[in-house]
Amino acid sequence: MSFQAPFTIEQFYKNLAQGKLMAGKCTQCGKIHLPPRPLCDNCFSQTFEWVEVSGKGKLLSYTVIHIAPPQFQELAPYAVGIIELENGLRIPGMISSVIPEQLKIGMDLSIEFGTCNTTQAWPQWPRYCFKPA
Ligand SMILES: [Zn+2]
Repeated sequence: MSFQAPFTIEQFYKNLAQGKLMAGKCTQCGKIHLPPRPLCDNCFSQTFEWVEVSGKGKLLSYTVIHIAPPQFQELAPYAVGIIELENGLRIPGMISSVIPEQLKIGMDLSIEFGTCNTTQAWPQWPRYCFKPA
């Protein structure tokens, strides 16, 4: 048996810290969960394998945040969107390097690891955000 990292949010962030967007693929039905979860919501299997997924996608929808939580207030206004990745998975994320007026539904975005601004001191999660491709 080979060691497998647990399929948890914590491990998901550890992977992000290494510059990898990893999802949990159910070995029973093949459904891919992003972020990973310990139980398949399709077939209730608990056996998964890690798969690396593309960080490229298109902007599906977005919201511009003007009143932010305290740790993000310095960044406001900023955009948070739902990005549909190349394999059809959808993931929420902050969108950087673009002013909100330039955002367009369907625009190409790519993931960027660990470079997103945050003024939050703790907990200091490894982060990802999206920027125009
Ligand atoms: Zn399944």
